[in-house]
Parts: sequence; C-alpha cells; structure tokens
Amino acid sequence: MKVFIGVGHGGSDPGAVANDVKEKELNLDIAKACRDVLKSYGVSVKMSRTKDENDAVSEEIKECNAYSPDLAVDIHNNAGGGDGAEVYYHYGGGTGKVLANNILAEIVKIGQNSRGAKIRKNSKGKDYYGFIRQTSCPAVIVECAFVDNAGDLKILSSKAKRKKMGQAIAKGILTTLGAEI
Ligand SMILES: [Zn+2]
Repeated sequence: MKVFIGVGHGGSDPGAVANDVKEKELNLDIAKACRDVLKSYGVSVKMSRTKDENDAVSEEIKECNAYSPDLAVDIHNNAGGGDGAEVYYHYGGGTGKVLANNILAEIVKIGQNSRGAKIRKNSKGKDYYGFIRQTSCPAVIVECAFVDNAGDLKILSSKAKRKKMGQAIAKGILTTLGAEI
C-alpha cells in the first residue's frame, strides 16, 4: 500500500498566520507523525516536503500522480474564525468520502470537534480544490483546526498534541486501507 501526504504551504508561503503560529509549521509536524504511524504498519509513504521549503500545490499534484498512491491526503489548518476540523473529498463520494469520514472519526477521539466531511465545487461543477480535482487517486484535504481561533488552536498547542493529530489522521487512513488498528 502507498500513501501520499501533501504538507500544505512551506517556504515563502506560511499559510494561515495567527496567534504566533504559522500554518506551514503545524502542517509539517502533523504530517511527520502521520507518516511515522503509516510506516510502522508497513505502508509506503511519500511526503510532498519534509522540511520548510517552497511546495506549490501544482507540484504536490504532480508528485502525487507520479507516485501513484492508493490514497492521498493534504494536511492543512484553517483560518476564517471557525471552530473544529473538516475534511474535503471528491464530490462524487466513493473512497474519498469514506476516507474523509474515517479521518474525522479518529480526530474526534482526540478531543477535536468535527465540522463534517464536505465537498466544494467550482463554477464548472468540478471539485474546487486542485488537490482533489487533479490527483488520480482518492484524495482528501484535512483542515485540522483554526489557526485564528485561540481556543480551537489549543488542540495543537504542543509538539505532543500535533503528534496526536497526525496519529489520528494515520488511523483514519489505515482503516480505509483495511488495516487492523
Ligand atoms: Zn492551508
């Protein structure tokens, strides 16, 4: 089994910035923990970046399709004043929807609330997000917490907590792959 992990933003693009936190740094900590769990279950993993460097979504998509994984996740954190985690999947449902719901079920277990599994379409009726629209395997975008909501951000306020988030995402992936966890 192969899984691609997109690590949102990086380098000159910090992603959401608020409360003395840069999204790109949270994303990387969470992604590394996710990778470590998947590898411990014998899953092959490719990350779009393993350090702080530029990492455009278009490059992530190319890398993902070249790797040809069974599943792909893009790890992000939110902004805009909401509260909780949400996961976007392909509007047609299928394995992406299953993956989204499995990940949210695990995130809820570590104490984060869920805003639900969601779809978002563009004006052409296709998936709004390139990572979902242009990848050739089932792919989801995980938004773990809101960087600009200090209360919500508590779920990621230490390395240990970010590790727990990454582990939760990994469990949702493993369940979708049919692994015993
Ligand atoms: Zn982001």
